[in-house]
Amino acid sequence: MRRNRKAKIVATLGPASGDLETITALYEAGVDMFRFNFSHGSHEDHRARHEIVRGLEKKYGAPISILADLQGPKIRLGTFAGDSAVLKVGEQFVLDRDETPGDATRVYLPHPELFAAVAAGQNLLLDDGKVRLNIVSNKDNRIVTTVAVGGKISNRKGVNVPDAILPIPAMTAKDLVDLEFALSLGVDWVALSFVQQVSDITEARAIIGDRAGIMSKIEKPAAMLDIDAICNASDSVMVARGDLGVELPAEQVPRAQKEILKASRKYGKPVIIATQMLESMTESPVPTRAETSDVASAIYEGSDAVMLSAESASGKFPVKAVAMMDRIIKEVEADPAYLCLIDAQQVPPLPTPEDAICHALREVVKTVNAVATVTYTNSGHTSMSVARMRPTAPILSITPNVNTARRLALVWGIHSTIGKDVGSVDEMVAAAVATAVREGFAKTGERVTVSAGLPFGESGTTNLLHIATVK
Ligand code: PGA
Ligand code: MN
Repeated sequence: MRRNRKAKIVATLGPASGDLETITALYEAGVDMFRFNFSHGSHEDHRARHEIVRGLEKKYGAPISILADLQGPKIRLGTFAGDSAVLKVGEQFVLDRDETPGDATRVYLPHPELFAAVAAGQNLLLDDGKVRLNIVSNKDNRIVTTVAVGGKISNRKGVNVPDAILPIPAMTAKDLVDLEFALSLGVDWVALSFVQQVSDITEARAIIGDRAGIMSKIEKPAAMLDIDAICNASDSVMVARGDLGVELPAEQVPRAQKEILKASRKYGKPVIIATQMLESMTESPVPTRAETSDVASAIYEGSDAVMLSAESASGKFPVKAVAMMDRIIKEVEADPAYLCLIDAQQVPPLPTPEDAICHALREVVKTVNAVATVTYTNSGHTSMSVARMRPTAPILSITPNVNTARRLALVWGIHSTIGKDVGSVDEMVAAAVATAVREGFAKTGERVTVSAGLPFGESGTTNLLHIATVK
């Protein structure tokens, strides 16, 4: 399905969007990548959604990306009787080791390490900091608090402890089980939560190998201190503003977002801007003006994708939220100022043959007014290197490798397709032109560029640039 936009849309699936009808509607409205949030839902839920998405790929003949987002060492509350409770300012609220569903006076906290690490005087922030608790005492497996900022809290909401350092590993036992399950399904990307250092990524890569791309979620102040190396070590990055904005003062998040985008572009790694993009659409069919502006800014800044969380997973208007993102992106991309801004964000080519080709390609596309820039790729490397240069023409990526095709669906500007292996340059050019026509990118008399690495099938060898006219 041709999207007619360059930036991509990621939507989280959940109870509001787990069925065939809704997932189909989300896809038709513009979703390029579905996010399975392993903080919620059972393996059977994820398996069913996985089957539905792969079914859509067959139906529409287009690769779709699936992201398995691991919970990571995120502290979460237990559950409440009636699924939620309202905490009132000044009242006492206790976190304990009793698994019985909680109420407005207490709740289960399934993290023994937290009971060992926090002390009176510190704060606990619930649900992305919406509710704030002051710790009064911590003894006998009971953390007694006073509600400083009240509100409604529902099952398994997150808990941040900005004042304490928690001795928690980067991947929990649950993550390892979820990871193997997700890889056995055949997901395309795996997101690591609360990445703090490069070793978190290398440790995960030792397990994942090339079975999926590794996305680092930037949501800890510690990760910001080593952001260049973290982007370089990752295959993609998520600006996870929910936890980031709790761990850091909220006013520092926009600047952090820009720093993460800059570091990711430097290394050619796709970036997703996530959390609260259209938050009010969980309840309302229209977003606030500030939200539409936030999505638009992320696009003007050159991000690869924007993401929906609660809006699509548990909100009242999942499909409307996707359609809204789709319209905002198209509006921005039609603005001549967008092209200027994207131009201004140009990253210098690295001193490699592939960067020389991709950099030149950008100019060639403009000079000959190419309607598409076709890339032949096995590992995805050629297509990603071209995307890093942000050419004006859409990137039509062709690969014989279905996993690569799915992974590339996340990347800015790439229209990802699966095509047969080619044996010669002539065959490649003919197939490139035919695909560009078939996918609706080119007509008779129009020009396309074709780039690839020779010999075919070897990764990191991008060294060919060809201009073809459609006959
Ligand atoms: P989460 O990650 O939704 O898994 O917490 C995103 C974020 O923190 O923004
Ligand atoms: Mn998070």
